Amino acid sequence: MSNFRFKALEIAQSRQALSVAAPSERVSEYYGSYTFNNEVMRSLLSPEAYLKITQAIETGGKVDRDIADEVANAMKSWAVAKGATHYTHWFQPLTGDTAEKHDAFFDVTMEGKAIEKFKGGALVQQEPDASSFPSGGLRNTFEARGYTGWDPSSPAFLMDNGAGGKTLCIPSVFISYTGEALDYKTPLLKALSAVDKAATAVCQYFDRNVTKVTPTLGPEQEYFVVDKALFFARPDLVMAGRTVFGHAPARGQQLEDHYFGTIPPRVNAFMVDFEFEAMKLGMPVRTRHNEVAPGQFEVAPTFEEVNLAIDHNALLMDLMEKVAERHNFKVLFHEKPFAGINGSGKHNNWSLGTNTGVNLLAPSSKPKESLRFLTFLVNVIKAVHDHADLLRASIASAGNEYRLGANEAPPAIVSIFLGESLTKALEDLETKSEVIVNKGDNVYYKLGINRIPSLLRDNTDRNRTSPFAFTGNKFEFRAVGGGANSASTMTVLNAIMADQLNKFKADLDARLAAGEKKELAIVDILKAYYADSKRILFEGNGYSDEWVEEAAKRGLSNIKSSPEALGVYLKPDSLDLFERTGVLSHSEVHSRYEIELEKYVKKVQIESRVIGDLAMNHVVSTALKYLNKLAETAKALVDLGMTTEADPIKGIIAEVSARVLAIKKGVDAMTETRKKANALTDTAEMAKVYATEVKDFFDVIRYEVDKLELIIDDEDWPLVKYREMLFVK
Ligand code: ADP
Ligand code: MG
Repeated sequence: MSNFRFKALEIAQSRQALSVAAPSERVSEYYGSYTFNNEVMRSLLSPEAYLKITQAIETGGKVDRDIADEVANAMKSWAVAKGATHYTHWFQPLTGDTAEKHDAFFDVTMEGKAIEKFKGGALVQQEPDASSFPSGGLRNTFEARGYTGWDPSSPAFLMDNGAGGKTLCIPSVFISYTGEALDYKTPLLKALSAVDKAATAVCQYFDRNVTKVTPTLGPEQEYFVVDKALFFARPDLVMAGRTVFGHAPARGQQLEDHYFGTIPPRVNAFMVDFEFEAMKLGMPVRTRHNEVAPGQFEVAPTFEEVNLAIDHNALLMDLMEKVAERHNFKVLFHEKPFAGINGSGKHNNWSLGTNTGVNLLAPSSKPKESLRFLTFLVNVIKAVHDHADLLRASIASAGNEYRLGANEAPPAIVSIFLGESLTKALEDLETKSEVIVNKGDNVYYKLGINRIPSLLRDNTDRNRTSPFAFTGNKFEFRAVGGGANSASTMTVLNAIMADQLNKFKADLDARLAAGEKKELAIVDILKAYYADSKRILFEGNGYSDEWVEEAAKRGLSNIKSSPEALGVYLKPDSLDLFERTGVLSHSEVHSRYEIELEKYVKKVQIESRVIGDLAMNHVVSTALKYLNKLAETAKALVDLGMTTEADPIKGIIAEVSARVLAIKKGVDAMTETRKKANALTDTAEMAKVYATEVKDFFDVIRYEVDKLELIIDDEDWPLVKYREMLFVK
């Protein structure tokens, strides 16, 4: 077995960086060439069809059947000309992966001739065999009908299918026969539309020209890269996506020499390669750099409309996995693949933009715009404050549970960082005594609104320890997991924002009806909101223990376990919020909760099995062989009369034996606990036992195994070590 480790190391070390050629000299020549984008539509569709389809995209309206036929036809010609042989609806079921089922374009006529065929009906709707996707009780398997429906707001694209041909992928929603959401996209689209409506209505108080508000997202994706041979020599990485054992290397990230350092050549080639592919697919990938941990990297695109940004992120993850194969790498998106060093997040940079080109979260030097900015800012604070637990629920997963609150990761406490000047501006707003405005007075001046610092964008006031940080002209939600689909977080964030803005509008309208002056009424409401929610603001070190204490004093939640966090979805407040905003019905929320819980249980169960297997079949068996070697040596020394010299060896034998025994006991007890958990019929109960009793053994067993790694002969150790996985590139 140890041979396997050294063979893998030999292979990994002998690899060279691939040379990667640009598709062509200028980016503009290939950027978006694999997408059925606006430009292509304009050139291929009749003016009437083009107008209708762009209108449908704008308003989220329906596409007529005859228009769909025309679009399908154009899509097919375009795709076939580019080498496509198949098409598929591409969707995001609640498994967390993307799904596709390829159908060939060609059909056979009565005369046995092959023709290419793709009609509007096939574009608009498909019925995949959906029985194996989770539905959380919404759909009985015997009635496994689920439909995928075209989402025209995200352009269709071409995927190389590896064997020469290409597949036309049509971004779609996935719903049950009875119309309930079975995917991530459906509620997301509803939340985006809700926030558009609510924010547009609020913008109307400031500017009548605003008719549409578009939420924007720039997801920064962190990931690890491990050589493929080393990856396959670690059964835990293969099975669970993370290492369950491994002693920290002598040099981890303490020197902080990896961050923004030189990218290793093989990794650089991989990045350049997937970026070319991403750009062909119209993804604006922009930055690449090393991350804090050795072997960790980041890719970030320029922000886009949320729905598109999420499709692009899901697609980018797929693409990275595919391209990594060529470079003999495996990409890890798991939130915590290695203990003791940083995990991977997906920082969700989020804002709201208007059709008039205004970023509603960008401070301005103009008093009127400042009031609008403050309105949106304070409403975000209030929304996050009132629904902090729901935001926490939206990022709950088995993987993220290891990351939140660990090395250099935000804690499970949701708090907001604003920066000094903005905090000051809000304090001023709150403490300002009643302002009496006479006719002819400059209201803004009196209110002090003209003093909102306009230089915030250049302010390098950054707090990287805050889970929800204001970063100049957007918020950055940093607690989202690296492997997550951002849709669940974006659905919650945009839904709570929509709901809050609706409340704000109702509050304001009531005051206006009572004859109050608009600006004064707005300021009054914002003051009250701020006072209500300011306990969620925190400027200090979010990674510190003091903050955990302080947050508890402030009454902020610190929900560490995923099952508990997910439980928030079922609270009456949450159910009502989703219903009010039209994002998810009660039964849809219930089904999501069930699915997420089941996913959690399965993941922890797999990890537990991997731990048992590796501990007994790899570690204990190696330790026993080592004990044998030691015993022989000790015996030989004693035989030679060198009893004292044999003593230290006997000491090692005693330690190894004790650890082997502890591992064996731990594994046996863990297996028993698992059996007990598996016998439970209630998923919530089962998840709870897994989250506590089963998981409690993980660290106990790991501790002993990692100690053995330090004792047992390196030549015999079967598992690729941390230093090898992290540094051999
Ligand atoms: P950082 O210092 O956090 O890396 P960047 O300026 O590089 O900050 O931005 C990080 C991400 O935020 C990028 O994806 C960027 O496109 C995105 N971003 C910038 N402005 C907005 C916005 N208005 N809405 C959403 N995302 C944005
Ligand atoms: Mg960032």
